[in-house]
Amino acid sequence: MSHNDQVVVTGAGGFIAGSLVAALRNHGYRRIRAVDIKPLAYWYQRFDDVENLSLDLNEKENCEIAARGAREIYNLAANMGGMGFIEKNKAVCMLSVLINTQMLQSAVKYGATRYFYSSSACVYNGDKQKSFEAPLLKEEDAYPALAEDGYGWEKLFSERMCRHFREDFGLYTRVARFHNVYGPWGTWFGGREKAPAAICRKVIEAKLTAKHEIEIWGTGHQTRSFMYIDDCLEGVQKIMNSEILEPINLGSSEAVSINQLVDLVEGIAGIRLERKYDLDAPRGVNGRNSDNTLIKRYLNWEPSIPLQMGLEKTYAWIYDQCLAREKGAAGVVREFATISS
Ligand code: NAD
Repeated sequence: MSHNDQVVVTGAGGFIAGSLVAALRNHGYRRIRAVDIKPLAYWYQRFDDVENLSLDLNEKENCEIAARGAREIYNLAANMGGMGFIEKNKAVCMLSVLINTQMLQSAVKYGATRYFYSSSACVYNGDKQKSFEAPLLKEEDAYPALAEDGYGWEKLFSERMCRHFREDFGLYTRVARFHNVYGPWGTWFGGREKAPAAICRKVIEAKLTAKHEIEIWGTGHQTRSFMYIDDCLEGVQKIMNSEILEPINLGSSEAVSINQLVDLVEGIAGIRLERKYDLDAPRGVNGRNSDNTLIKRYLNWEPSIPLQMGLEKTYAWIYDQCLAREKGAAGVVREFATISS
């Protein structure tokens, strides 16, 4: 792969793929095509020296426009969000199968050599995530299949599609199962935000309004691990360039409960809030952590940025976003409604 080869990143108007475009630019790639369904004004990050295309990849002809001439394709486009979004939009989440299927077909048609697909920890069997003790999920724990309804099943199916395109068409597909990614430039309000951003925002709003309360979804005992964006980007590059044929975990193994996550954010903000637990809100599985045995064996590496450090940066960024929103200033990362519901 030379720095003059064409690289395509889909979902580039969003959090991770937008940050990936920034990282590829920093690594010296000069021909980057960034694609997203959102109008350009809604992209979280956008760069003038990149070919930015606003295209709906649910349409096959648009996938072909996106893939034409590409040597490497990073397919991160998907309809996704936190539990509040995926529990209420299962059909919409499953429709992302069109994006991956047609991007794979277009990659083969135009002779791409490498193809990355962003899968998710939501593929794991729900029965293995009933304990609040943050069970470590190994790659084999996706089977027998009992994925997160809607979003998780789409990811599992698309993983297999990647495998069969590799076997049948020789496309060099690589699949990472992301465990909760957070950091600056992530969705932080509007309904699709995930726990770290939502908690940072709620703590900041409580601080700014002096209303010292916070609403927490569920009991707060649910456990998760959270991977800082820089670790995610490094892992994506390492996996794309590796010999790892099967889907592999890409996540931090530093698990915390949601209550501990709130403790950390309160510590950064320098306040304590009264906690109100909404037991009817979507809460997902009880416990989940990333077993990193395989990634350490293959890459001699695993995500290692401490949660405290990543949260400090994320909190500072969301704080600035909150202030900019209050002033009605430009540059606020906001959601664009890609679905009508
Ligand atoms: P994001 O919502 O910020 O980015 C996804 C982007 O895909 C959005 O900008 C959206 O507009 C775009 N998109 C949706 N439908 C499209 C279409 N039809 N055509 C073109 N673009 C379309 O989400 P993210 O957090 O950056 O996630 C990126 C990828 O990583 C997704 O595939 C997601 O499922 C996966 N993932 C993310 C996490 C996480 O914690 N953020 C965890 C597991 C997996």
